[in-house]
Amino acid sequence: MKKIIGCFLMLTLMLGCIAVKKGKDGAKGKDGVSAKKEFFIDSTLVKKHLYTLASDAMEGRKSGTSGIEKAAVYIENEFKKLGLKTFENLETYRQTFTFKNRRSGEDITSSNILGVLEGKSKKDEIVIISAHYDHLGMKTSGEGDLIYNGANDDASGVTGVLALAKYFKEVGNERTIVFAAFTAEEMGLIGSTHFGKGINASKYVAGINLEMIGKIPSFGPNTAWLTGFERSDFGKIIQKNLEGTGYQLFPDPYKKYNLFFRSDNASLARLGVPSHTFSTTPIDVDPDYHKVSDEAETLNMTVITQTIQAVAKGTESIINGKDTPTRVVIKK
Ligand SMILES: [Zn+2]
Repeated sequence: MKKIIGCFLMLTLMLGCIAVKKGKDGAKGKDGVSAKKEFFIDSTLVKKHLYTLASDAMEGRKSGTSGIEKAAVYIENEFKKLGLKTFENLETYRQTFTFKNRRSGEDITSSNILGVLEGKSKKDEIVIISAHYDHLGMKTSGEGDLIYNGANDDASGVTGVLALAKYFKEVGNERTIVFAAFTAEEMGLIGSTHFGKGINASKYVAGINLEMIGKIPSFGPNTAWLTGFERSDFGKIIQKNLEGTGYQLFPDPYKKYNLFFRSDNASLARLGVPSHTFSTTPIDVDPDYHKVSDEAETLNMTVITQTIQAVAKGTESIINGKDTPTRVVIKK
């Protein structure tokens, strides 16, 4: 991506995005409650993350390739800039493991990228915010465009994870947040399943997964839908928090696609965690899903930015320990 804006202007724009909500009598307010910081998602940064992750240089981000490695390094660098901690006893942001690709039979070594913002008062209660950074790679033969850029699926979700890491770094968090970019989702939720095996699920109070948040939903602008809406009261909490914002959350309208079990939220939901996926894409008519045409230019930057902002606002009471969603129960 071309650098259009100079560093100084960029900094000014970013600082301009931080606003402080003052109490009625100034910074402290009458009730003595300190001023609450409000932070707005920066659309310039959202665009930069999206266009970088979906660029041809990443060669479709297939797990085990040099293309996905570039995406891994980009995400690590963003985590480092924000000063995120590493997960549990890992020395870096990488949770590296080897698995067998069920289709090809080959052994693949790849990494989930994990960063942590420790909670201020409820350190042992964890919320995970995730998206998968892998995609389908490249066509091995043919003419024309050979790269599955996966801009909507799921560079848009990873962009959300990075933007939310910056958001909660700015506004603070009472519960611990784990930010996760999972690998090998497209090969069968491999990265999130591996992550799930290593955790004490009872510590995880909620899972916020982002998938394909770059297109205008069938419900219209300023809306998103949530998979597994009826499986916990997570969605109702979000709806309550979004009242008056003009942004609405709906239950997943594509029941026949079984989407609740088709993204990384399922790996934690199977362990009982109220873990759901936010999406905006009309997947029944989307012409670019799992096609080489899933390019950054086909996405609506306003939809992505507003959706990330809505997820931030909608999950705030969970992040801050005021609301705890009911657990998911899945019959074996
Ligand atoms: Zn996906």
